[in-house]
Amino acid sequence: MASVEDVVVGNKQVLLKHFIPEGAPKETDMELVTTGTIRLRVPEGSNAVLLKNLYLSCDPYMRPRMTKHEDSSYVDDFIPGAPITGFGVGKVVDSSYSDFRTGDYVWGQIGWEEYSLITKPQGLFKIHHTEIPLSYYIGILGMVGLTAYVGFYDICSPKKGERVFVSAAAGAVGQIVGQFAKQFGCYVVGSAGSDEKVNLLKTKFGFDEAFNYKKEPDLTKALKRYFPEGIDIYFENVGGSMLEAVLQNMRIKGRIAACGMISQYNLEKPEGVHNLFLIVSKRIRLEGFVIFDHFGSYPEFEEKVVQLIKEEKIKYLEDIVEGLENAPAALIGLFEGRNVGKQVVVVSRE
Ligand code: NAP
Repeated sequence: MASVEDVVVGNKQVLLKHFIPEGAPKETDMELVTTGTIRLRVPEGSNAVLLKNLYLSCDPYMRPRMTKHEDSSYVDDFIPGAPITGFGVGKVVDSSYSDFRTGDYVWGQIGWEEYSLITKPQGLFKIHHTEIPLSYYIGILGMVGLTAYVGFYDICSPKKGERVFVSAAAGAVGQIVGQFAKQFGCYVVGSAGSDEKVNLLKTKFGFDEAFNYKKEPDLTKALKRYFPEGIDIYFENVGGSMLEAVLQNMRIKGRIAACGMISQYNLEKPEGVHNLFLIVSKRIRLEGFVIFDHFGSYPEFEEKVVQLIKEEKIKYLEDIVEGLENAPAALIGLFEGRNVGKQVVVVSRE
């Protein structure tokens, strides 16, 4: 039963103007439209949910969605002229879907807009732990946290005492992977692109060591310094020259969780890795994974990580930007390393 007045309100949106074949995304590739309106009721006879959007997530995988692909086996391309979509947290304003009621908080794929009409609400998750900051559901308690969890525990098959390397370690996924690996009893080193981030890794997130990859003229030598006996597990977030240097330093039977390769996302033609044969000679398991295949693990993951948060056994850093109008710049910032921690955009706090 609808419980809001039948009113129409303004609905600001951020649209993708056109596909971007290559290069870093720019603010001019996106457009804030302030003239739209929306009726605060789901259509009669629908099975839909109307959300007031609170928090939006900026994620690197959104860049490939801005390019037209013949084969979109990873994620669907965005639609030029339509609002950008991504993970977010919203409050249910009206619902004809039996799982959600007015006033519930949910997370999942929503639009970059003030209100979203979700016509396939089966993909949304209800938020039960409203005592935890709601924005955590686009980060540590959402897709990002699940990526760290599945990627580390399932894909990396860790053993106590192993040597773990994490790239983009001060970012959303990396900060969590590093802490899982430490809690598991591993030796953990992270790389990041500024001294401020390196310092955070060592002082806040408990990494054993960390280095600024931008200051290292030879990444192979840098890794040798931190892993004189080689790397057992690499949590791959960046690709390119870092992956090449890591392969050189991997131990026999090492494992690489290929989570992402952000250094390649703005390139039309990916850079080559010249030493891929080391995967054979060192019997390395290099396994790619896409988190959308692993949402079945969400309940188990949520239970464990909510507990860790409540007991303050895990740290989590957000980089918060206020206002939908600042979302394009925040997304672009990911590719310049401007975010320190998980990039969150606040559309509204309630
Ligand atoms: P994030 O680390 O919070 O933000 C991206 C970071 O990447 C930037 O802050 C920057 O940090 C680094 N970076 C940007 N351009 C770079 C470049 N050219 N070379 C090296 N580093 C660069 O992002 P996230 O959400 O945690 O994502 C991390 C990785 O996980 C991405 O590759 C993403 O695609 C992947 N991911 C995959 C899945 C999956 O299902 N497989 C799910 C979620 C995320 P620095 O300052 O350190 O350079």
